Amino acid sequence: MKVLKLKRWTKALLNEYGIRPKKRLSQTFIVDDRILESINRLLKMESNETILEIGAGLGALTRKLAESGAYVLALEIDDNLVKVLKKVIDKYANVEVIKGDILIFDWRNVDKIVSNIPYHISSQIIIKLIKNMNYRTAFLLLQREFALRVVAKPGNRDYGRLTVIVSLRANARVLGFIPRRAFYPKPRVDSLLVEINPLKTPFLKDEEIHAFENFTRKLFSERRKNILKVLSKVTGMDKNDVKRILQKHSIPPDKRVYMLTPMEFLAVFRELYI
Ligand code: SAH
Repeated sequence: MKVLKLKRWTKALLNEYGIRPKKRLSQTFIVDDRILESINRLLKMESNETILEIGAGLGALTRKLAESGAYVLALEIDDNLVKVLKKVIDKYANVEVIKGDILIFDWRNVDKIVSNIPYHISSQIIIKLIKNMNYRTAFLLLQREFALRVVAKPGNRDYGRLTVIVSLRANARVLGFIPRRAFYPKPRVDSLLVEINPLKTPFLKDEEIHAFENFTRKLFSERRKNILKVLSKVTGMDKNDVKRILQKHSIPPDKRVYMLTPMEFLAVFRELYI
């Protein structure tokens, strides 16, 4: 087979199959060979590992993963792309193409997860990855603004509910910057590659997640107000009782919501809900 540059290869495939990328499925394909190479290197695939690729698209990354000898589960929701994907990975026996929706798909026995995330469901995917932590590492290409919300520090503009929940369950860090020109069709914003490593013993327990999500949603809806005021309002408790709880955990009552650390949110949550 003639080796084409990734951008030409992508356009040729789309043309051949008469496919127009769908905005509503966030279809934007990686078309920069060098960036694809560096992402592939960062994944450090071993031949005895299994990897789930969420939204495999036309299979640019899928092929690279297959070459490592690892077992690849390539999940894709779009029928048209599934057809092309099957052709593209035709010669690899170690790739399984699955037509499905990540929001209702339950994986088992995977070592790693990778995705150039369909950005319209970024939050839902992250939350799902944080609830079902049966994998070792997830590598996610996220829109820059969204990625910053995942890895922000307390007191930062981007710090919020998502940051708090993720950091009580996993370590998340940015591995690299991916400019928008690396994708076709070109998105309006740049991306960051983020690595997520689930904690062996998460601070926030499985059975607490749901209530904690609601709790932090209420608090962050008034992120700039002081914690004493917001907590009394949200719980309907007497201010003096709230003050005592805050004192017990050395949290100044006039600290603003968005300045609290994830562990402080958890401590207060446990006082009130357990
Ligand atoms: N991995 C490819 C394509 C990324 S674009 C590449 O990097 O080139 C995002 C892909 O996710 C698209 O192929 C889109 O069809 C798919 N997708 C969108 N929503 C999905 C869902 N709910 N479940 C699985 N795949 C989905």
